[in-house]
Amino acid sequence: MIPYATVEEASMALGRNLTRLEVVWFDYSATKSDYYLYCHNILFLFLIFSLVPLPLVIVESLRSASGWFDRYKIQPKVKNSFSDMFRCYRDVMKMFLLVVGPLQLVSYPSIQMIEIRSGLPLPSCLEIVAQLVVYFLVEDYTNYWIHRFFHCKWGYEKIHHIHHEYTAPIGYAAPYAHWAEVLVLGIPTFLGPAIAPGHMITFWLWIALRQIEAIETHSGYDFPWTLTKYIPFYGGAEYHDYHHYVGGQSQSNFASVFTYCDYIYGTDKGYRFQKKLLQQIKEESKKSNKQNGGEKFD
Ligand SMILES: [Zn+2]
Ligand SMILES: [Zn+2]
Repeated sequence: MIPYATVEEASMALGRNLTRLEVVWFDYSATKSDYYLYCHNILFLFLIFSLVPLPLVIVESLRSASGWFDRYKIQPKVKNSFSDMFRCYRDVMKMFLLVVGPLQLVSYPSIQMIEIRSGLPLPSCLEIVAQLVVYFLVEDYTNYWIHRFFHCKWGYEKIHHIHHEYTAPIGYAAPYAHWAEVLVLGIPTFLGPAIAPGHMITFWLWIALRQIEAIETHSGYDFPWTLTKYIPFYGGAEYHDYHHYVGGQSQSNFASVFTYCDYIYGTDKGYRFQKKLLQQIKEESKKSNKQNGGEKFD
């Protein structure tokens, strides 16, 4: 809640005119409580879980019907019907209503404790980006170790096996997991904002971007035009797909966002070996295809 009655009063307090964005924020948030603003995350998460994977459903349906997009599918032998994908969405929504939504409603005291602010001035773009980088790095490191723990015998059999039901992940399967895993993985999500608390808008952006990233990572497609390919040490869909492909025995590619933890702790050796092998096979096929006067290898 903003402690000023008017834009003029806020301008006086800041000693300058409000920017256009600050006026928009003032008009929207001045009479809303911080709890109400925090609960916007429920709506954002619902929209992201529902809408962001939709283009992937269309791509998968086109691929199943005509083979379009086959070249971008990481595990092309696996085809998901519309009803498979809808079942996954239905289960994710159940989890959303029973766990994620209520968790958002009751976790507000932690937001108060770490002092997420909702007033003016708004943070600069640089501040938002710097905090988001910190949040992603902290989440990635913490998630790596929790995920690795979930792959011990007890953790996998009791909890994590549900997330691995999809050996070839789909967008809707990003949050598909045991309720206990959903709760525990809330800790790395909150840890970054707890270390470097920012504005409510930064917090909204963080929650939204983290979920969109998880959906992309579970998309099952490696599109060459994906912009995240330009982010240094970014794992992406192919990287995490390997983790699901190997399944329960997987001791590889635990990281949720970047690749550096797996590299440092030596848990990407199987993946790198497999990637090198596939590259060699591809190059040899290309060579023999040329020698036989065949068409361009694809
Ligand atoms: Zn796993
Ligand atoms: Zn996964």
